[in-house]
Amino acid sequence: MNAPGFAAALKPLDQLPFSHSYAALPPAFYTRLQPTPLPAPYLVCASPAAAALIGLDPAEFATPEFIATFAGNRIPPGAQPLAAVYSGHQFGVWAGQLGDGRAILLGEAAAEASAPGGALEIQLKGAGLTPYSRMGDGRAVLRSSIREFLCSEAMAALGIPTSRALCVIGSDEPVMRERLETAAVATRLAPSFIRFGSFEHWYYRDRTAELKTLADYVIARFYPELRDADKPYQALLAEVTRRTAELVAQWQAVGFMHGVLNTDNMSILGITIDYGPFGFMEAFDAGHICNHSDTQGRYAYAMQPKICHWNCYALGQALLPLIGEVDDVHAALSGYASAYQEKIDALLHAKLGLQTRQDDDSQLIDAMFKLMQDNHVDFTLFFRRLGDLQQENPAADEPLRDLFIDRPAFDDWASQYRLRLGRENDGGRDSASDAARRAAMHAVNPKYILRNYLAQVAIEKAQNKDFSEIARLLKVLEHPFDDQPEYEAYAALPPDWASQLEVSCSS
Ligand code: AMP
Ligand code: MG
Repeated sequence: MNAPGFAAALKPLDQLPFSHSYAALPPAFYTRLQPTPLPAPYLVCASPAAAALIGLDPAEFATPEFIATFAGNRIPPGAQPLAAVYSGHQFGVWAGQLGDGRAILLGEAAAEASAPGGALEIQLKGAGLTPYSRMGDGRAVLRSSIREFLCSEAMAALGIPTSRALCVIGSDEPVMRERLETAAVATRLAPSFIRFGSFEHWYYRDRTAELKTLADYVIARFYPELRDADKPYQALLAEVTRRTAELVAQWQAVGFMHGVLNTDNMSILGITIDYGPFGFMEAFDAGHICNHSDTQGRYAYAMQPKICHWNCYALGQALLPLIGEVDDVHAALSGYASAYQEKIDALLHAKLGLQTRQDDDSQLIDAMFKLMQDNHVDFTLFFRRLGDLQQENPAADEPLRDLFIDRPAFDDWASQYRLRLGRENDGGRDSASDAARRAAMHAVNPKYILRNYLAQVAIEKAQNKDFSEIARLLKVLEHPFDDQPEYEAYAALPPDWASQLEVSCSS
């Protein structure tokens, strides 16, 4: 929610009021440096909704100053660029020091009053080498920058906590990945980009003073309600654990797969960050691996809840010197399972249009996932079309039924579902009538998600300097729950060629 008058008071770029709470931490937490200029930059895309969060006038998008600034070629008044240090566990293995190897923080811009900390960090991703670049080139490619841009904004529209994307600036500068690509800078906004790995960094160096400084900063700025808790560091771990569990439940409920759930990609605020080889589930397979580099399937769809719990353990380990007692760490982490279960139950009931919870609901839900798995049903279309089901009119099921190879198995499940809906009606709840249920279900089951092939079409056009498809997709994805008849094609099953698409860690 915008604070009254906030959105109305749109500012030009050079009047953004910057603050620098992160830069006020001791110098060991970061390196001050300038972005590396990007030759001949051009605007690829920008999000007016993201700009509104920091009160930035979208009329600025067209200006040379905007392009130069978000290419990293010009430092706006008041910015103090820096790269932050962190470490992390990658694919279950301690990786040691990582850090912002290609991201540069300009500072925090004042945001709507409800934003935690009252400001949003503005971070350029792909802005050149830093002391933390290791073997990398400090760049991001156009392809992955467009994917991050679109997905950040799509997730926000789905109501899922996430970093936001302000814009992507491109250049013809060549960048080598599996093949030659071109460079881009994506500008991201979030209250903070502090990660689990930011804490692990100090824990593994035995630097308890810095660990405490970081925890105190995070609590004071983002969790002020915990400051007066009996055991604030334990309370912080418990709250991050709870938020993480709820976040994963939200991912599972829309079929989102992050792809690289390393501890350095886990936000201390419980928001989705660091979009790389992510994907949305299409033909349902609980074991689906969206990241081609993840050969073991560590981050497969069905693994995400367990892996994020593991990541919370890694955070708990790192906070142990502050919390003091192992038992207190365990107690804080123990809330994960129930927080996840409570959230996923609520989300699945809503997805099924069920307002009450009944004893045998888990059987109905388990049978549904088994049916989806056996028939490799498109995740998004299944839930969307389920909303069109009518109690007394099986003919209305046809588009839904058509998604299944095994029609009798579908009919079987649908009759169980109808029986369950009938029990929902007990007590004359007319809100459970077909029309009301349909509206309620369509408000939680998106029609439009960022399918890989939709992103791919937009990327290929952008690689030929046609950015119109990105803008169109952004508009569609900003209203994922609305029927948008002119964009019906964007809600269709993926074309055959889409199954050949591979996304990997290479970005
Ligand atoms: P990611 O898998 O994108 O979350 O990145 C893991 C780590 O590698 C982070 O420390 C990144 O900053 C760093 N990194 C990834 N790509 C590059 C690159 N092209 N240049 C420098 N550092 C990179
Ligand atoms: Mg990362």
